[in-house]
Amino acid sequence: MNDSSIREKPVPNPPPHVVLLGAGASRATFPSGDKNGRKLPLMDELPCVLGEIWNELVTATQVPKGDFESQYSWIKSKSGYVEELEAVERRIKQYFEEMELPDHPTIYDYLVLGLRSSDVIGTFNWDPLLLQAHERNRGVCKLPDLRFLHGCVSYTTCIEHDVLGSEGQVCPVCHKKLTTGHLIYPEADKDYARDSFIKRDWDLVQKAVEHSFHLTVFGYRAPKTDYNARQILLDAWGDEESRGLSHVELIDIASPDHLSDNWRAFIPFGHMMHEIDFFDSSIARWPRRTFEWKRNASFYGLPSKDVGICKTKSLQELQDWFRELGELENAEGQS
Ligand SMILES: [Zn+2]
Repeated sequence: MNDSSIREKPVPNPPPHVVLLGAGASRATFPSGDKNGRKLPLMDELPCVLGEIWNELVTATQVPKGDFESQYSWIKSKSGYVEELEAVERRIKQYFEEMELPDHPTIYDYLVLGLRSSDVIGTFNWDPLLLQAHERNRGVCKLPDLRFLHGCVSYTTCIEHDVLGSEGQVCPVCHKKLTTGHLIYPEADKDYARDSFIKRDWDLVQKAVEHSFHLTVFGYRAPKTDYNARQILLDAWGDEESRGLSHVELIDIASPDHLSDNWRAFIPFGHMMHEIDFFDSSIARWPRRTFEWKRNASFYGLPSKDVGICKTKSLQELQDWFRELGELENAEGQS
């Protein structure tokens, strides 16, 4: 396989490329907020979103100083604040629920269109914007599987049939109304097995990571408080020996030194790629062909000419570009 053929001749049924998204990805995608200017908060910015409701709770409980996650966790461990915490959770949910994608193409459009149906995106974000990007591009070509590792405000599903739905939809198999999933709130020791939808998504991501040829982590820094998440991912990723040719690709505005400390256990032999800008990533340079690029580089030592990317302000133009790329896969009955 030479470098010019990877666009035209995609490999059938490749192993998965897994992408993990954190709050930094939504922030990078919507630096000025959503369609209506609503800001995408990082975890530590949630007190600003909550305002008085949070300040009053902090005063009433006399919670020790700390970040939002540790304070929430501390309050939850005390009895007597169930109603107050429910009000906090409702407020957070409402804030995210009202978010809308802008009409122009966003990084999330490039992301969902840039991966194939064998690929998996596991997101830690509650906002509905990735799901909205998936919804508006579904007719263009086959898209990756989406999994919500901390839940998502507008995601609905059927517990029996693994359906990716949104509010008000019914299951295409059993015709029952789809159920809204829960959000995992920021407790330090998150138990993913407690919620059946979240457990299902974790199991699928874990399996995909196990079989993946490439792992991209976009705006997620695996904080120490996400101990369970780190451990599940690390167990699935495997040991250094089995990952000799694998890279972890980090898309993050932080410096590589800081990031590699967090991700050291995942990076065999220092094989880490780091990009500040999504448009320098493997998904932007070899959209829907990351497996072919990786295989050429790792097994044959061949560089691959970039396949992408179509930079445009028109969603229609972007979709037409990807439709053509996707048709090359469909022509051979591929994913
Ligand atoms: Zn069903």
